[in-house]
Amino acid sequence: MSRYTEAVDVAIVGSGPAGAAYARILSERSPGATIALFEVGPTVTSPPGAHVKNIADPAGRAHAQTRSEGPHAKDSEDRVGGIVKTSQRRARPGTFLLESGYQVEGEEGLPVAAMSSNVGGMAAHWTGACPRPNDSERIALLDSDGTFDELLAEGERLLGVTTDAFDSSPYAELVRDRLAAAEDAGRIASTRVQRMPLAVHRREDGNLVWSGSDVVFGDVTRDNPQFTLFDESLVTRVLVEDGRAAGVAVTDRRTGERAEVRARFVVVAADALRTPQLLWASGIRPEALGRYLNDQAQIVFAVRIRDLEPTAGDGSPGSTGLSEYSGVTWVPFTDDMPFHGQVMQLDASPVKLADDDPAAPGSIVGLGLFCAKDLQASDRLEFSDTETDGYGMPAPTVHYTLTERDEAVIARGKEEIVRLGRAIGEPLDDRPFVMPLGASLHYQGTTRLGAADDGMSVCSTEGEVWGVDGLFVAGNGVIPTATACNPTLTGVALAVNGARAIAARLAD
Ligand code: FAD
Repeated sequence: MSRYTEAVDVAIVGSGPAGAAYARILSERSPGATIALFEVGPTVTSPPGAHVKNIADPAGRAHAQTRSEGPHAKDSEDRVGGIVKTSQRRARPGTFLLESGYQVEGEEGLPVAAMSSNVGGMAAHWTGACPRPNDSERIALLDSDGTFDELLAEGERLLGVTTDAFDSSPYAELVRDRLAAAEDAGRIASTRVQRMPLAVHRREDGNLVWSGSDVVFGDVTRDNPQFTLFDESLVTRVLVEDGRAAGVAVTDRRTGERAEVRARFVVVAADALRTPQLLWASGIRPEALGRYLNDQAQIVFAVRIRDLEPTAGDGSPGSTGLSEYSGVTWVPFTDDMPFHGQVMQLDASPVKLADDDPAAPGSIVGLGLFCAKDLQASDRLEFSDTETDGYGMPAPTVHYTLTERDEAVIARGKEEIVRLGRAIGEPLDDRPFVMPLGASLHYQGTTRLGAADDGMSVCSTEGEVWGVDGLFVAGNGVIPTATACNPTLTGVALAVNGARAIAARLAD
């Protein structure tokens, strides 16, 4: 007997926060609708989709991470990941890199473009920073009547975003105040230096709980008898009949069983690299598919906080292994200062630059500036008709170059990060470090939304693919603007918009 149902109202591909947001909103608004969610990776946490940082046992956490690392993931505790440093091609724990095609001769490429394959997607491994976009990062098409802010607020509800989790961190206010003194002049209140909104909350026992897709699903999805999550299930094709989405073709990774599941609506939320891959594999190839690919160049720098009382407060790690000395501070993007700044204690930082100082624990903070890309249609993913990736899907090739404007923004960012670092303390190094491209893990634009089917976008503002009724795309790939801020909140907000559109049509 087949593991899969024959037909559902809505088939969702991918269980990261974007796919989970569709499941949640549909469970809330269309409780009678049948929903099947297909995820190529395994379930690595309980509840499904939870953040691996919530696993208190380090060996259990490492095991969950390795199982998330793609088609060749080791089902053992041997670590294959590591910390991205210098120009090495190393994946962060819980992620895996493109095996090939990440750089074409004469272009910059995205050498460390990465993905995760597990229930919960990358959000089982993420840092949880959920800033709202500002100025040119915002999506004007949705911004005329307060819609965009309402969607962002809904995204914050789904992701469980808070700003007070690190309020008791002994150095958080100090770091914030020093950055504010250096940066706030001329900024309006909403773009001043502030606490980073984070997808995290504190349990009654005092430990932090990081949000993953489990929080996005919520009890309403888990308790929905019409919702089924199929893990280790690779969707190989979206079925299209008479210009309408008709279902998905799926392969059970455990048994090799192949099936077709009919659906009235199909949502592809398979990350910004694999959503266009699946459309391509299905013969759905709008002009803009895979184009306007953008990643946020990332500059990092570390400083030792100046003039510290070494014994101030206690920020020692809780059971989830994260010390909490200086919290996470946000320096918002503005068009005048076109960087998204994230300043955090070093063990939450994506790059480990130095060992902490035992004399004053938590005294070293990492600064990160993310840059918005100068968008180009030529920055794109191409998919092969003959070569395949580790899952047997069309192999991607990344075409990606930095423009003169990109180089200028990065050069300015290197100066700004040193200025901001010096405001906090003494630099550990004389120069900031530019991470290899792709390290931000914030890929966008490959299924971008637009106002019309004019060759420059793949879908409508609701995420429905031009020319294929009932087929929706979701995730960071839908974001049409060049953002510098972490994109997941925006991706989830756009997923809410699409899910509401499906709910309305199911009710017709
Ligand atoms: P994903 O979470 O990537 O989920 C896509 C899912 O689709 C995957 O599980 C994949 O296995 C599945 N899939 C793909 N193809 C198929 C197929 N054919 N069939 C079935 N399933 C398929 N973002 C932020 O905004 N803030 C941060 O602070 C932040 N920090 C990060 C730190 C780390 C270490 C990492 C790894 C990521 C971080 N990110 C951060 C990025 C963030 O996790 C992603 O933006 C977010 O998870 C994207 O959500 P998504 O649902 O679109 O895609």
